[in-house]
This record gives sequence, structure tokens and C-alpha cells, in this order.
Amino acid sequence: MRTKRIRAWLFAVAVAATASASLVSHIALAAGEKRLLAYGARIVGDDARTRIVIDFDRPPTFSIHYIANPERVVIDLPATAFGFPAKDLEARGLFKDIRYGTMDEDSARIVLTATKPVRIGLAKVQVDEGGKGQRLVLEAEMTDKAKFDELVKAQSWDEQPSSQTTSTIPSPEKPGSGDFIVAVDAGHGGIDTGAIGVDTKTQEKDVTLAFARILADRLNREPGIKAFLTRTDDSFLSLSQRVEIARQNHAALFVSMHADTLRQKDIRGATVYTISDKASDKLAADLADRENLSDQIAGTATTTEPPEVADILLDLTRRETQAFSISLAESVLASFKDQVGTINNPHRHAGFRVLQAPDVPSILLELGFLSNREDEKLLLDDAWRTKMGGLLTEAVKHYRAAMVANGG
Ligand code: ZN
Repeated sequence: MRTKRIRAWLFAVAVAATASASLVSHIALAAGEKRLLAYGARIVGDDARTRIVIDFDRPPTFSIHYIANPERVVIDLPATAFGFPAKDLEARGLFKDIRYGTMDEDSARIVLTATKPVRIGLAKVQVDEGGKGQRLVLEAEMTDKAKFDELVKAQSWDEQPSSQTTSTIPSPEKPGSGDFIVAVDAGHGGIDTGAIGVDTKTQEKDVTLAFARILADRLNREPGIKAFLTRTDDSFLSLSQRVEIARQNHAALFVSMHADTLRQKDIRGATVYTISDKASDKLAADLADRENLSDQIAGTATTTEPPEVADILLDLTRRETQAFSISLAESVLASFKDQVGTINNPHRHAGFRVLQAPDVPSILLELGFLSNREDEKLLLDDAWRTKMGGLLTEAVKHYRAAMVANGG
């Protein structure tokens, strides 16, 4: 929190210093826009040196970090609206992947994934020649593995943006005692866009949030059920943060929403996933691998591995939780029968990190695939979403009734 305040203060000073000088920032301030505007970007260079320039309306504060496996450079910024065309900052030279976007309401991030060990030899903010804005100039150069490892070791993450803390965890409406609490998790978010639709270029993070809202509202109309969202806006949450939010809010269920893409564009329909060490099939394994990349895309330094199962009670809890997860998955698929199209063998399993809460029964629901035109249409259709929300609510009620009947 302290860091956050200092960042905000630096930011305010920077704004005050340039407000009169720059027409662009004057307009932005007049509109009450606190975020920086990154309105232009360019990247030039080869696999030995690569230069990135980003144009801002006001001078950005920034911090640089390095992460290994794979080698990445992370640039943390205050809240920023990225307004330039994606093609202007397409990966090239020393970088094979470039992502940028929101981390939370106070911060944004650029993650540069390198083709080999790199270092930022020069990083500075300078006034544009025309005096219209400010540019962030980053010059990357190749280095060797030992030097890169030194950079990783020598750095401090004190300037870590607030997204790494759990201070922004939303609380559900005060649950009555005995309320059945459901965590509705909109997959992806912020810098992690998830999949992109074939036709409309819809981003998975928006599809999942829109649907999660509908589902939570629908669940909250049921007496005795309280649903809440793990994220309520376009922010990034790491996979372990999602799990932690569910646990801290005493969720009885965790449902993660997705709408991914497949190479096989003809495959369509819903799928329900539960966790397992060994994947049920190749499709499930590939999907889990891609979902588990979320933290890496966002430049999360290291995800803590779940503790070793030394405790026999924890082991028993896990097994029981897994049995409940499977029963929830079956309840969901029963509610879909003759109502919603599913893929073949619609209950699959794999090592999804977001499903690893030892004590909260969890499923990951692929609503459909953004790689399929028909599915994409449905995912954006209000009537279909409402129907899907109703069916899932029936499934949750059915699951809960079975739990009560079994004394759970
Ligand atoms: Zn996804």
C-alpha cells in the first residue's frame, strides 16, 4: 500500500509539471482521465539489439524487472490506456512475444518475452521533438545467460505493483449463516486477453466477464445462494490469487469460465474440466498447458507450488474435494442435456492450476470455442447467455441438494 501511495504521488507530481505545457494532457485531465495514454509505439532492430519507443501523453514513471524461464523483461507503469494499433508493437528482433495491458486500477504492465538472454542497456523518458508528448525509450541488447541470471538475482521487487498483493479481494455481500457461497471466476483479464474470436475478434477475457456477471446475478436470485465474482473489471489476477480469493471468501464452489480457441475450427460446444495429475486426453492436456501460461504472460515472477502433501488430513481433504468436483461436473452436464451442445466426452480432466484449491470443489467450464463461428455467435448472444446461466444455476441447486441429502 505504501508503494502504491508513493507511485500515486510521483504520478501526481509528473502530471502537475506538464499539465500546462502539454495540450494533450490538459485535455486528458479535463476529461477526468487519470490513466496515462500510450498513443504510439514502434519497434526496430535485430536479434542483437532492439529498440522500443512508446509515446505517452504525460511522462510515465516506470520500473524494469527481469524474469527467467523463459527470459522476460517486465516494464511496470502507472494505470495506462494503450491506444496504438497492436501491429505497431509486434514482436521482432530480440523479442518473440510482447504483451501489454492492465494489471489493476493503479498499474499496467508490458511483458517482453525474449528469444535469448537480454538486458535493457538504456531506458529513459524524453520529450518528443514536437513537444506534444513524452516518449519511453528502451534499448535491449543481447547478453549471456550468466549475466542475465545476475540481473534476476540482483533486482528488488519493492516497486511491485499492487496487483501482487491480495488487498483488492472483493468481499461477497454479507453471507447469512448457512448461505451456500459460489465463487464465479471470469477467466483471464487485463494484460492476459485469453483467446481471440475468429470473426469478431472478441477477446475471451470480455466474454468470460460478461457471462460471469450474468451467472452471478442469476445465482443471487436463489434464496440461500450467494455468488460473487473473483474479478469485477478488466484486471489481471494470477491463477493462485483466484484460488485464494475463493478460499478467503469461504466459497463452497469455484467455477472458472472460459471460451478458448482450438486449432480444429470445426469443434464446438461446451466442456467441463476437473483437476487431475494426468490429463484425460491430448486436447485437455494442451488446454491446461495454455491456461497455465496465464501467469507467465503477465510476468508473474514465480507461482508458488502447492505444499507437498505430507499431511494425511490434507490428502483426505483433497480426495474428498475432487469427488465433489466430479459430482458438480456431472450435475452441470446433466443440466446441459438436450439444451446445450457439448463436445464429445464433455467431462475431461487435466492439471489446471486454477482448480487446485484443496478444499473448494472446483470446475473449469469452457462455454464454447471462440475458434468456431457458430460458438462465437452464441457466446455473444444475450438469450443464449441467459439460458446458460439458468441451466448452471439449476446444476448448482441440484448439487447442493445432493450434498444436503448426504449430510455434506
Ligand atoms: Zn481461457
